[in-house]
Amino acid sequence: MQALMMNSQLMISSILKHAEKNFPEVEMVSVTVDSPRHRQTYKTFAKRCRQLANALSALGAEFGDRIGTLAWNDFRHMELYYGVSGSGMVCHTINPKLFPEQVAYIINHAEDKILFVDVLVMPLLEALKDHLSKVETIVVMTDRAHMPESTLPNVVCYEELLAEQSDEYEWPQFDENTASGMCYTSGTTGHPKGVVYSHRSTLLHALSGALPDVTTASNMETTLPVVPMFHVNAWGAPYAALMVGMKMVLPGPKMADGETLTDLMTSEEVTFSSGVPTIWLALLDYLAANNKTIPSLARVSVGGAACPRIIVERFREQHNCTVVQGWGMTETSPLGTIFSLKKGMENYSDEQMTDLQCLQGRGVFGIEMCIVDENNEELPWDGEAFGALKVRGPWVAKGYFGLSDVPGNEECPVDEKGWFNTGDVATISPDGFLQITDRTKDVIKSGGEWISSIEIENAAVNHEDIAEAAVIGRYHPKWTERPLLICVLQEGKSLSSEEVLEFLRGKLHKMAVPDGVEFVDELPHTATGKLNKLGLRKTFADYEFPAA
Ligand code: AMP
Repeated sequence: MQALMMNSQLMISSILKHAEKNFPEVEMVSVTVDSPRHRQTYKTFAKRCRQLANALSALGAEFGDRIGTLAWNDFRHMELYYGVSGSGMVCHTINPKLFPEQVAYIINHAEDKILFVDVLVMPLLEALKDHLSKVETIVVMTDRAHMPESTLPNVVCYEELLAEQSDEYEWPQFDENTASGMCYTSGTTGHPKGVVYSHRSTLLHALSGALPDVTTASNMETTLPVVPMFHVNAWGAPYAALMVGMKMVLPGPKMADGETLTDLMTSEEVTFSSGVPTIWLALLDYLAANNKTIPSLARVSVGGAACPRIIVERFREQHNCTVVQGWGMTETSPLGTIFSLKKGMENYSDEQMTDLQCLQGRGVFGIEMCIVDENNEELPWDGEAFGALKVRGPWVAKGYFGLSDVPGNEECPVDEKGWFNTGDVATISPDGFLQITDRTKDVIKSGGEWISSIEIENAAVNHEDIAEAAVIGRYHPKWTERPLLICVLQEGKSLSSEEVLEFLRGKLHKMAVPDGVEFVDELPHTATGKLNKLGLRKTFADYEFPAA
């Protein structure tokens, strides 16, 4: 028997329409290159999104076209989130901090037709000028007064483009499984891979993210996502905030600047913020050095990398603020698990509470998770057994753009049972708290950005005195994780750490140059002859970097 309910498609434009009708007066405050404190209401925002939709069609963009963005967190980037997806195109957010070759690869692979870029990103595009094959127009996200000089063809000013357009536009209705957004991840080996979100996955993810036990999103709250809008849709904040009419404060290019963040959060009375551990460590240091606090800030969510205990403790003790740790991936939109209490835990001591907050949190509805052994057999949730973490659900990727999505195929991250293999190793407690204990994927995450260990190993073995090299990530107090290079030297040769580092400096991106070099007689290998990184990570479990 068929149900008799309306089959309304879940559309990103429906969030915008809801916010405009119900919360027209709510503000969106931004820092941009052209304004230190730009303010607009959701009513104005919705109007400008419609102008943008008209502008896209005037530029020749069509349903399904990829529209790239290289931008920070601000109101114009928000307009692209809604204007692009709402009109049936794909909002492809790109991290401007990646290596230029990676940025070019990503733009070309996605076949971006139009790029919307921040003024500060223009020098990068100038450098890539001869490498962007499909891009027809570049729109600089600023006003006429701040337009940079450019040698690029077809460069347009965002504000002029919008000013020419009518604010009348009917958001189209289409299948909710249509692609709405794209984000490439370099958290896997080989080239960056494109994750493609749908209207349906984005809406369901935002609904789940707005639940009281997840972010307590509400019209009573003010949020400042420090997590960039070029990385997994700023963890869904741009959608969840408008769903509930939450005031948004967007730090623009100033996201790593303690003074700007403190000033913005204090004056705009921000109650909730989200970001990677490195950001919070820097902010806590700034607050301590300047004897300041942010009275309104009640909760911060931390994710993207394991949250060091010191962050939880300092926020609680010095700022009366609760740390909520979450785990997720680009491929999981990203919400997978998040810290939330179960009845009875509210009376825990500070020590017990901190222990819980240092875990990766509990699964939210919509995400199923399991841990498996090497035979793909499920392991118990006893907090002891650890295995490969797998997840599935409506906002988990089933494949990558342009690669096979047939389960079991080596290009596809999903197994025959429909589980997505995260590449993380974890335990799960009887209460459902996830603890990430290791990683099987061969990449290092430093300050929220991925570094390829293979790239460093390849560069190192190019030295004639190095016979074999392995790179693992080790804990670092500022960056959470930094690369440690472990070398086996050729018979009879000797090298110092500094000599190895000097050799690598010209060959690797600055962030990829290891923070430590160790020498061993031999490296551990698995039965199939591969480097046994799990073994190496055990051997170097207590390693401390020299400069730390
Ligand atoms: P990305 O796709 O760049 O967002 O990276 C996702 C990966 O970051 C995960 O697979 C984990 O390896 C790591 N990660 C994310 N959140 C956490 C966390 N709370 N604790 C430990 N690792 C995390």
